[in-house]
Amino acid sequence: MIFLDRDSGGKIGKFLYQLFVIFFSFSHSSFAQSNDTSTQIPILCYHRFATQINDEMTVKTADFVKQLAWLKENGYTVISLDTAAQYLKGERGNIPDKPVVITVDDGHKSVYFEMLPVVKYYKVPVTLFIYPSAISNARYALTWEQLHELEETELFHVESHTYWHPNFKKDKKRLSAEAYDQFVTMQLGESKHILEAKMGHEIKYLAWAFGIYDEELQRKAKEAGYKAAFTIERKHADRNQPIMALPRYMILHPATVDLLKRVLK
Ligand SMILES: [Zn+2]
Repeated sequence: MIFLDRDSGGKIGKFLYQLFVIFFSFSHSSFAQSNDTSTQIPILCYHRFATQINDEMTVKTADFVKQLAWLKENGYTVISLDTAAQYLKGERGNIPDKPVVITVDDGHKSVYFEMLPVVKYYKVPVTLFIYPSAISNARYALTWEQLHELEETELFHVESHTYWHPNFKKDKKRLSAEAYDQFVTMQLGESKHILEAKMGHEIKYLAWAFGIYDEELQRKAKEAGYKAAFTIERKHADRNQPIMALPRYMILHPATVDLLKRVLK
């Protein structure tokens, strides 16, 4: 319970947990309310994992293990992106102390072969931002079977990273205003629909491809039915930021514990 924000204790556990929540929120209401709206949440964004590093977008699996061990030893709670988003939208009041969120973009195979065993060991929730055109298609990408297997652990959860990872800045220059508008609608809508059909659950969140977003794109993401969207920016997420452009820290090689400490401070 301490390291994993997921109630897996069945009905009795759930009942006791609810009793605890009621008791806790009642006894701490005056104190907790004032602090509760100002919690800042660091959201981490990884891409690939490997034992040998050829590019900075790939994190050494052993470094990732050290980071998770350090988080656990230092009282951090890895919460799900969904929990964080609900808090940031003001839909829930309480989240654990020292929260941190783990996301992974692009759906590379190393999530299955390198990251999965580590995540199972530490039992932390992870959100995968997937662009479905690559799945069971590109050589480097996960398959639909692997994505299902990842979600069956109840630790991984799939969300959207557009349909084929376009560069909206370039596409805006390349296309007429009307064609660009249709293109954006397709990239945001198709991704959501395909992932919902394939994974069998609602797709609520979007990660901007290359972290590219603007006012128009934020409006389009809302229209497409996304509840929140995430970009790349070196700061903690909080309730004052636009819900369609919440910041995440890109974690690059060398992903040391010192780097993590600098990010979380
Ligand atoms: Zn990406």
